[in-house]
Amino acid sequence: MRGRSLRFEVTFWYSVVMGVTLLVVGVSIERVAYNRISASIDNSLRQSAYAVINEVALLEGDLRQIPLDSASTVLNPPPWPPRYVQLLSVQGEIIYRSRNLGHYRLPIDTAAIRKRQSGMVVSPDMKLYKDEPIRVITFPLPPIKKRQMGWGQVAMSLHDLDRAKKKNRLALAFTLPAAIAISAIAGWWLAGRALRPIDGVIRTARRIRAENLDERLTRREVDDELGRLIETLNDLLERLELNFRQISQFSADVSHELRTPLTIVQGEAEVALRQGAKPEEMRLALELVLDEAQKMSKLVRNLLTLARLETGQHRPQFVATPLAPIVEDLAEEGQVLAQAKGLTLRLGQMEDAEIYGDAVLLHQLGFNLIENAVRYTPSGGHVELSLITVGEFAHLIVRDTGLGIEESELKHIFDRFYRGDKARNHAEGGSGLGLALVKQIAEIHRGTVEVTSKPGEGSAFTVVLPLKTYMGAESSEASGMPIVERTRS
Ligand code: ADP
Repeated sequence: MRGRSLRFEVTFWYSVVMGVTLLVVGVSIERVAYNRISASIDNSLRQSAYAVINEVALLEGDLRQIPLDSASTVLNPPPWPPRYVQLLSVQGEIIYRSRNLGHYRLPIDTAAIRKRQSGMVVSPDMKLYKDEPIRVITFPLPPIKKRQMGWGQVAMSLHDLDRAKKKNRLALAFTLPAAIAISAIAGWWLAGRALRPIDGVIRTARRIRAENLDERLTRREVDDELGRLIETLNDLLERLELNFRQISQFSADVSHELRTPLTIVQGEAEVALRQGAKPEEMRLALELVLDEAQKMSKLVRNLLTLARLETGQHRPQFVATPLAPIVEDLAEEGQVLAQAKGLTLRLGQMEDAEIYGDAVLLHQLGFNLIENAVRYTPSGGHVELSLITVGEFAHLIVRDTGLGIEESELKHIFDRFYRGDKARNHAEGGSGLGLALVKQIAEIHRGTVEVTSKPGEGSAFTVVLPLKTYMGAESSEASGMPIVERTRS
């Protein structure tokens, strides 16, 4: 059925099912009718047998004395309907045959006679001569003066039954293909009707391109299979449109972020190459170029990490990782940044907390938070790192006494390339990717990032990560992150 249209397939199977059903129904009806007629033939054979028994009982004598042209219609039935009588001696020799048998003899059920069975026996259907199927009943004749008289046989032609059967088969042989043909045509038409709305969906779906991704398939009022398909496709389009816009926005943002440093690099290079430029001027220009190149390279590195984590290209190494050593390392590195800006950085409450995680990524997460805290805290301020456990979660908290974040900005700070107004004015060096990466790393560790902040007073970023014990005892360190049933959001 490969390569066939759905319409063809539906019609094909519909016709097959219809054909088989009709055949089963036809054959069953024939069987029921045949069994009924067959039972009524058996009945009338028995009645004839009783009539013969009564007639013979009246004779009270030697069976051989029955004249061949007996006037009795019981022993000598009229030619129509074909019914034959034959009488046998006790030993099974024929002693009387009804005239309509001509020179034919009824087949003798010798087994019944040999066994001297007492009841009536209907033999399996047989042929009297070619084209004359018959059914024979054999029965013992009533004894006279306690002497066994012999056997009687009555036969009936099954000609009519056979003809009816043949006619029925013939009718079935003609009507079945016709019925299948009609149901195939009806099936083709019905399938066409049922599938027509899908053509509409296909036409609209074909029209949709990148330029008109906002177009949607027309909704159906009914909640049927097609309605649900349209709903699903529309949802898919919705997501595609969103992703497409995000990608366009992302490209625009990257270009925007790279434009300024590239302009600076170009300008400074021109200064350095200018005729008659002094060695100090050249050196200054090159320093600026190097500075911008470092910024760009950091931006690209962050972007790459983000993209690899998002697309699953970077497979984090999830192993049992104690967080305290990481936080202590971070405190040391942060100290250098903080001192350079005239801030104090100290460790707050520290508890043991072990999680399944990637130490390199977790380090990057912490470093980004410390970098931000230092960047957005004016000199003289404080930054504090703490690690505590709450229930089955580790809380890594980076608190600062810096600028704080406006309520309206809070929902955007984790977006890529988002930079707060104050940040733009007060601090240099950010690219708006730091928190996006923090969030991404927390999420692949099945954790969350929460932030509380008061403008002018400071901010606290809390990374909540499920503890190793929470992730389940049988979780394997090599196979990646174990699945948890509950995720915090
Ligand atoms: P950036 O490179 O600008 O720091 P981030 O993604 O790290 O980008 O942060 C996004 C924005 O969130 C920042 O521009 C700033 O407005 C705000 N922000 C982040 N951390 C802090 C903080 N510790 N204090 C105040 N504002 C912050």
